[in-house]
Amino acid sequence: MNASLTPGQTKVEQVKLLIDGQWVESKTSEWRDVVNPATQQVLARVPFATAEEVDAAIAAGQRAFKTWRDTPIGARMRIMLKLQALIREHSKRIAVVLSAEQGKTIADAEGDIFRGLEVVEHTCSIGSLQMGEFAENVAGGVDTYTLRQPIGVCAGITPFNFPAMIPLWMFPMAIVCGNTFVLKPSEQDPLSTMMLVELAIEAGVPAGVLNVVHGGKQVVDALCTHSDIKAISFVGSTEVGTHVYNLAGQHGKRVQSMMGAKNHAVVLPDANRTQTLNALVGAGFGAAGQRCMATSVAVLVGKAREWLPELKELAANLKVNAGSEPGTDVGPLISKRAKERVLGLIESGIKEGAKLELDGREVSVPGYEQGNFVGPTLFSGVTTDMQIYTQEIFGPVLVVLEVDTLDEAIALVNRNPFGNGTGLFTQSGAAARKFQNEIDVGQVGINIPIPVPVPFFSFTGSRGSKLGDLGPYGKQVVQFYTQTKTVTSRWFDDDSVNDGVNTTISLR
Ligand code: NAD
Repeated sequence: MNASLTPGQTKVEQVKLLIDGQWVESKTSEWRDVVNPATQQVLARVPFATAEEVDAAIAAGQRAFKTWRDTPIGARMRIMLKLQALIREHSKRIAVVLSAEQGKTIADAEGDIFRGLEVVEHTCSIGSLQMGEFAENVAGGVDTYTLRQPIGVCAGITPFNFPAMIPLWMFPMAIVCGNTFVLKPSEQDPLSTMMLVELAIEAGVPAGVLNVVHGGKQVVDALCTHSDIKAISFVGSTEVGTHVYNLAGQHGKRVQSMMGAKNHAVVLPDANRTQTLNALVGAGFGAAGQRCMATSVAVLVGKAREWLPELKELAANLKVNAGSEPGTDVGPLISKRAKERVLGLIESGIKEGAKLELDGREVSVPGYEQGNFVGPTLFSGVTTDMQIYTQEIFGPVLVVLEVDTLDEAIALVNRNPFGNGTGLFTQSGAAARKFQNEIDVGQVGINIPIPVPVPFFSFTGSRGSKLGDLGPYGKQVVQFYTQTKTVTSRWFDDDSVNDGVNTTISLR
């Protein structure tokens, strides 16, 4: 497939749609290049599917649902077992493509796939995850039990920054619960996602159970408004996520929208200094800051202020290069547009009076002069009214704020509208316990910089980072992708039973 293009190859392949088990060449006139962000090499062209193609994908899902919903749970689970084995087998090959289209290092691309693979592993326990409850004898001879039934055709819309992990948050759990699915990958880097979809088909996902359409706003809006789509999982920016949540909600769908972030790491002076500084730099600049759980704000408390020069030195030592090159710490940003936006925000920080401790704007990478690189950038003297604090930068920019006490730090984090992730660095159990209790953020790390929960828990961003009650993966997503039916039943084995007419609501 197109994803296996090598640098010398000239033919640029077209990414296919997957409709009803067929790999379909889109009839659209609108295409977009998938570009290697380190070289600008065009890797493939991705179609923006037509309205008819989106309808066809949903119709295929609707047809397949009739039989898939009744396919035994063990049969569904065995497909997932096969899928996890295939992903494991092909992980290195996918990581190379992922790194080429997204920019992250090969090791980080493998991590992207691995964190998604963990979700696939978890789907293999669907037998117990999807179990209902049973209460015997709730009234004389009456039992009550619940069924967790699939809801129909569901759709997923994914961002560019995790082209493996986030699609794998969505379609495996949706389909193992008995739903069918229409996936709309990021148009910026769909190639590794498509390799995972190919593996799902190879694992035995039947025709129509998993469909893929590509595109932008029009395709997304079509999914959000189509009467046969029952649920939408969205991950991406706050602006688009809010739009999707509102539009799909107005059309009666279940929606979960995981959105933007501004993650604060609070550093107390009693923390393990070396470990903490390593964590700040890794989580601040890894993946070029393009993680929704990246540390983008460091809050130095009291004497931890004195650690700033060391933080700067560590950040300055990171190696900026193409993700495919050995030893790279920081790869390119996804697009020229993303780079322009990050540079604009750095400019705004300077203009608004923050101190630019480390300037990554002029970084040059020999052999990759066309790459969308920005080097690690560090600001101190930042205040909460500056754009570099109020906006999600989504680049390798760490802003440092200083406060005197843990209470002030907690109040600062809680005033920020986002609630995706936060971390506390300390050796004090009492401080950690206070922090986890009082902090109003969905995912908390204690001496852990990127506290993305493992899949038997759920991803639990909150406040401005999330709309909808239930998060992706884990038990919450089983609830999201199923509806509960409660059955109250009574059986008679004797014709002579006569309780008389009951005109009350009570069970007897
Ligand atoms: P994005 O919002 O630009 O795109 C996400 C998806 O929406 C893509 O599939 C895209 O095609 C589609 N889209 C783009 N514009 C649209 C529009 N106007 N109408 C309808 N659909 C549209 O996000 P991105 O730049 O791909 O990803 C980065 C963002 O995602 C960051 O804000 C990051 O914090 C967030 N993110 C959040 C989480 C989380 O779990 N909270 C995880 C990963 C990424």
